Amino acid sequence: MHKTCLLMIPGPTELTQGVLTALSAPMCSHLDPGFTDDWKQTLQRLRLVFGCSNGQPFVASGNGTLAMDMAAANLPEPDDTVLVVNTGVFGDRFASILGCYGRTVTQVCAPQIGDVPSLEAVENLLRDGNFKLLVATHVDTSTGVRVDVKRLAALGHRYGTLVVVDGVCAVAGEEMQQEEWNIDLVVAASQKALGAPPGLAIVMAGPRAVHAFHARKTPVRHGDADWTFWLPLVENGITRETRHRGTPPINLIRALNVALSQILAEGLEARVAHHELVSKAIKAGVNALGLTQVPIGPDRAAHTLSAVYYPPGLDCSLLAHVEEEGVILSGGFHPVIHDRYFRIGHMGTISHSDALKTLGALERGLDRAGYKFEPGAGSVAAQKVLSES
Ligand code: PMP
Repeated sequence: MHKTCLLMIPGPTELTQGVLTALSAPMCSHLDPGFTDDWKQTLQRLRLVFGCSNGQPFVASGNGTLAMDMAAANLPEPDDTVLVVNTGVFGDRFASILGCYGRTVTQVCAPQIGDVPSLEAVENLLRDGNFKLLVATHVDTSTGVRVDVKRLAALGHRYGTLVVVDGVCAVAGEEMQQEEWNIDLVVAASQKALGAPPGLAIVMAGPRAVHAFHARKTPVRHGDADWTFWLPLVENGITRETRHRGTPPINLIRALNVALSQILAEGLEARVAHHELVSKAIKAGVNALGLTQVPIGPDRAAHTLSAVYYPPGLDCSLLAHVEEEGVILSGGFHPVIHDRYFRIGHMGTISHSDALKTLGALERGLDRAGYKFEPGAGSVAAQKVLSES
C-alpha cells in the first residue's frame, strides 16, 4: 500500500492545510472570546453557504444521522404524517428515524435503483394525503442519484407541507438555494463537500420550520437535540446565559469555520461549477473504459460522487488493486446491489489532478484485475472534458 493514498470516497474527504491547522490549534475554553467569535462566524457563514440568510443553523457534536434525528425530533408531532421521496438507503434511513418517533411515514420509491420517483407520483400522494412533511435526499450516496429538490420543494409547498432535504452529500458541492427554493430545513454533515472532518451534525432551519417548532403542542422527545436548548445559542451566540448545554467540539467548529471561509472565498457558483466539471470528467472517463453507472441517466446523476458497476467478472477485489496504485475508492452501499458496484467520491477539495490520478489508478487496477480496455482511454476522455472547459 502507498504511504499516502488519495482518499476518493464519498466522505470523509481530504482536508486542506488550513483546516488541518485549525484542528491542531491549542485548546481553549468554550467561553473564550476567540471561540465565541468563531461560533458566530461559523453560523453566519453557514447561512451564506446554504443560501438561507434568514435560517437558524444548529451545529452539534455528531454526524449526518444525528442531523436527520434532530429534524425528525423537532419538526413533526406524533400525529403528523410524512412523505419520503426515496432514492436509496438514506431515504430508508430517514423513514426509519421518523418511525422511531412514532411518525406515520409513506414512501414513494424510485421505479428502479438508479432512478427517481416522478413528480406525478409524488403529487398523487400529496393530493390524497395530508402530509405535514415532504422529505427528499438531494444526493443519495448509496446510488449516486440526485433529485431536483427545487421542483420538489415547489410541489410540496403547493400542498402545504414543510419541505425537508437531506443535503449531507450535496451541500457545498451541488447548487443549494434554500431560501429562494423555499426549502424549510436542510440537514448536512461536516465531512463531505463542506470539506471539514467528520464529527458535526448540521441542520439549517428556515423560518417556517422554526415557526412550526414554536407552534408544537407536544414536547420534543429528545434529551439533547431539542431546539429548546439550541435556539438561544443560535439566535444570541454564546453568552453566560446562552451557552452550550454539553461541551462543544471546539476545534471541529474552528475547522468547519475555516472550511466555510475557503468555500466562500472560492465562490459558491464557481464551486458548484467545479464539482460539475470534475464529475463530468470522471464520468466520461469511466464511460470510456466501458463501465456503466448506477444512475440511469446523466440527469439523475450526482456531481459529488459516481456509482459505477464492476465490469462482468470483476468484484470488490478491484478496489484493493486501485489502492495499490495510490487511490482509495469505496465499495457499494445499497443492499440490493452492494457487491456489484463501487463508488468514487469527488467533492470538497477535489482538483483536476485528483480526478486524473483517480482514473489512472482505476485503469491500472482494472489492468491488474485482468479487464481488457484501450489503455489510457479513461484518462484521455477525462482530460478532454477538463481541457475543453
Ligand atoms: N445522508 C446521506 C445522503 C449520506 O450520504 C450520509 C452519510 N453517508 C448520511 C445521511 C449520514 O451521515 P453520517 O454518516 O455522517 O451519519
